Amino acid sequence: MYRTHNCGQLRLTDAGSSVTLSGWVSISRDFGSLTFVDLRDRYGITQLVFDADARPELRQQVQQLGREYVIRVKGVVRERSNKNPNRETGDIEIEVNELDILNQSKTPPFTIEDNTDGGDDLRMKYRYLDLRRNPVQQNIIFRSRLAIETRKYLADQGFIEVETPFLIKSTPEGARDFVVPSRMNPGTFYALPQSPQTFKQLLMVSGLDKYFQIVKCFRDEDLRADRQPEFTQIDCEMSFITQEEILNTFEGLAKYLFKTIHNIDLGDFPRMTYDEAMTRYGSDKPDLRFGMEFAYLKEAVSGRGFAVFDQAENVIGIVAKDCEDRFSNKDMKELTEWLQRPQIGAKGLVYVKYGKDGIKSTIGKFYSDEDLQRIGEVCGAQQGDMLLILCGETEKTRKQLNELRLEMGRRLGLIKEGAFKPLWVVDFPLLEWDEDTQRFYAMHHPFTAPKQSDIEKMKSSDRAVLGNLRADAYDMVINGVEIGGGSIRIFDKELQATNFSLLGFSPEEAERQFGFLMNAFEYGAPPHGGIAFGFDRLCAVMSGQNNIRDFIAFPKNNQGRDVMIDAPSAIDAGQLKELGIEVKSQS
Ligand code: ASP
Repeated sequence: MYRTHNCGQLRLTDAGSSVTLSGWVSISRDFGSLTFVDLRDRYGITQLVFDADARPELRQQVQQLGREYVIRVKGVVRERSNKNPNRETGDIEIEVNELDILNQSKTPPFTIEDNTDGGDDLRMKYRYLDLRRNPVQQNIIFRSRLAIETRKYLADQGFIEVETPFLIKSTPEGARDFVVPSRMNPGTFYALPQSPQTFKQLLMVSGLDKYFQIVKCFRDEDLRADRQPEFTQIDCEMSFITQEEILNTFEGLAKYLFKTIHNIDLGDFPRMTYDEAMTRYGSDKPDLRFGMEFAYLKEAVSGRGFAVFDQAENVIGIVAKDCEDRFSNKDMKELTEWLQRPQIGAKGLVYVKYGKDGIKSTIGKFYSDEDLQRIGEVCGAQQGDMLLILCGETEKTRKQLNELRLEMGRRLGLIKEGAFKPLWVVDFPLLEWDEDTQRFYAMHHPFTAPKQSDIEKMKSSDRAVLGNLRADAYDMVINGVEIGGGSIRIFDKELQATNFSLLGFSPEEAERQFGFLMNAFEYGAPPHGGIAFGFDRLCAVMSGQNNIRDFIAFPKNNQGRDVMIDAPSAIDAGQLKELGIEVKSQS
């Protein structure tokens, strides 16, 4: 037997018991006749004591022990004289009688401790060692719990878990496909699913009624901290369902997960239309952990001879409470430069500080103190506050001010740790105009249903009318992160064809890409809708972290590489030939 207990289990009440433990040597400290070893496994760390006077026969073996050696010990639990209150097993130690070295270890390239000395690259190369570290292990264990609880909730609600294929034809979620060459059909390719979207809709045509799957999706996109080329969704679809019922079902899932895992009652989620979210926060995923809502100032600032404001389509401000004296001129200059970086692209920043010794502003030349006071009243600024104003084209200005709002929230410490602020954003636009390609794209995806009241308007050829069409599409947002999104689907072949044509698909193209779905719709497709959650992101947000990589056992780096297994990598000429692929050498 390798163990009677694990390394996190023994307490003072076990004193006197004979036990067997197995694990990894974390640290070994030699004090002459006494050697202390921290033995580690997934469950914790237990201190072992080797007493050379009592057990001289173990001495030689004990001296061989190195970091990360795998050992088995037999011994007796005893109370520790020098207790460690930071460890659950800190009241006891094991007086060892027998030692087996089960395996040796090379010295690991970084320390296997909560705070390691290993850099990112090294830890990724030796991810299996990184995964021995407690914080990393806890993330993976957390993820597992979340998946298990998700399955429990959905199974209780009558959902069926169905696997859909990975070797498929392109699904349009707006990214590039990863493709897999087919050996048996030279010159042709499968695409890996960007999501199981079309399959889950087909399952509704099949009458499965309530489907879910915790499933890998693949998108060939430029990577950022919260993106991975392969990631996991909790993917769901339901039949004979209204938007209201979907929101309730999945709000229920989120509430259940927070309650069972964090013992937090989330309360009912507020709902906000897309337009409202954009107007109040300049974002379709507003972070509601703090206020600082947008104030529209165009009217209040116009007609005072300040051309920049007079000519701007919109002038929008946010009020930072009680901080006018916290930002020096240098800070303001730095903040302005931060906004002017190409990533944000603001032209400039106007501020008004409502200080105790009077009002200070970058636009004092154009506006009297009374003017500035009045502007302050419009947006609810009081003495001690600072008003930050951006101006320009409405959409751009909102986006820039959203960035500034989030930055101010961070700088002023307004985001309380451990706070969770969920909401639903509803009534997304159906279509999104792209200036570069001069065409509409689906804001969610091409299968999303327009609002009933907007179906007629789909016949319009007016870009403004089409751009204003609204869809039965919704996102769940928590703490400013889009956790999930979905929609009611089109289930009528004609309407689907109209939508494809608005998206610039010729009937032939639509038939070629999605003929299978359109055909299925001819055999009695039920009304249906669904949602998918970004599972990796949900793990990160629920843990109060923002890097999804920390919740993936074997993630890719920012270049999309797995440095541990060295992928992607070249394949040999024979394999390429078999696949009928010619690769030009990269000289
Ligand atoms: N397939 C969609 C996505 O991946 C989710 C959905 O509409 O259910 O975003």
